[in-house]
Amino acid sequence: MNLNLNLKMNLEDKEIGIPTERTLKILKKASERAKAEVEKNLKSLAEREDYSPQFDYFMKLCGGEQTPEAIERRTGRSAARLLCIQAPIELIHAAGFHPYKIASGSQAMTSLAAHGLPALMCPMIRAVIGAVLESGPGSGTSPVTSPWILPTTCDWVAKFPEMLRSFGVENRIHWMELPHLKDGDAGQARWLEEVFGLKKFLETSGAKIGRKSLADSVRIYDDAWRALNRLAKMRREERIANVWFMLIAGSFFLDSPERWTEAALSIAPSSAPPSGPGRARVFLAGSPIFFPNFKLLHLLEDTGITVAADDLCSGERVFPGAVACKDTSEFGIISALAQRYHQGCLCPTFIDNDRRVNGILCEKRTAGLRGVVFHVLKGCHPYDLESLGIERILKERGLRFLRIETDYASEDSQNLRTRLEAYRRTFGGERDEL
Ligand code: SF4
Repeated sequence: MNLNLNLKMNLEDKEIGIPTERTLKILKKASERAKAEVEKNLKSLAEREDYSPQFDYFMKLCGGEQTPEAIERRTGRSAARLLCIQAPIELIHAAGFHPYKIASGSQAMTSLAAHGLPALMCPMIRAVIGAVLESGPGSGTSPVTSPWILPTTCDWVAKFPEMLRSFGVENRIHWMELPHLKDGDAGQARWLEEVFGLKKFLETSGAKIGRKSLADSVRIYDDAWRALNRLAKMRREERIANVWFMLIAGSFFLDSPERWTEAALSIAPSSAPPSGPGRARVFLAGSPIFFPNFKLLHLLEDTGITVAADDLCSGERVFPGAVACKDTSEFGIISALAQRYHQGCLCPTFIDNDRRVNGILCEKRTAGLRGVVFHVLKGCHPYDLESLGIERILKERGLRFLRIETDYASEDSQNLRTRLEAYRRTFGGERDEL
């Protein structure tokens, strides 16, 4: 993490009203606080009873430098930055880029971007803006080689470039207009057009995408998906703690998919389930959770609640996964990718999204879950709104439902702990059968 004079100039130029010295001081302080946050969280992970050196690779990725330049050095490819998982990463990879879904769970970074932004906004987006400002716009990576690929998912994503611009940061953006009705022919045809538009865009600054390079990239990400699934299965069997699973999933975009897959496959299941009798096994749904903001994950564990599955876009849904291609022509693969990333996506920004509830109910049966903890980041309207309808349906189906609304700050930890303890008591003392 480095201070960048460009930012100082940009802040000055945009007359945000912060004197130069103060700007530098704010940047320095935020950098130090972000570093301390990461170190504190890595230390608490290293002190866990179930820590093992097999997690070091993932801890190093999550605790290391995460600028596009660092990603490029690590992967040997220019980073194409993403905020959501709707743009087919296989296509981006096949053009020679490293698809880098940028995310941040840093409280320090949210405060860095506090000036000039709405008071109540998605903390994840705010933290990403903070991270961009902190690492410095265009420091080494030209916007041409490191574009942003932004599907129009939620309003915060749609307004993201505008918010960056208000800090004087310009970026090369490729928009993908996301049809929010996905089950109709019109939406699917429209999305396929957008995916071909992305291909064209990528080929203007990257390599030409051919059938072979695309098939190779599909295979690489299929392998990664299988490795993630193996870990998800281990978590269902309580052979890996949820905290480790989320750390591993959250590190996915920080290195080459091949290296990450190899490391993920080398994780051995713990010899004994980490939980004792009487744990409550739940499904974790809602807004994403990114390192170092593992507050809720630690509280769940501390209060005896075991997360056995999730559908977070930072967890099991970190990337859409296996692609079924009957037609292996270039058109066939691109069509299959478009379908997988559109119809298969469970993001609450879609209107026809019944599959999301069905997925949770299916987990209830197959993984023996009895509750759902629904995480809402303050300012994340899509998940906030979705929680209302989902709560009723899941309760009717006999699942204990708890909605937790929070942000990256730690002040509400005690309050959350009390609520989680009360929720835990509703499960009684019995242990669910696996
Ligand atoms: S869906 Fe929620 S968490 Fe994701 S970017 Fe939008 S507001 Fe933020």
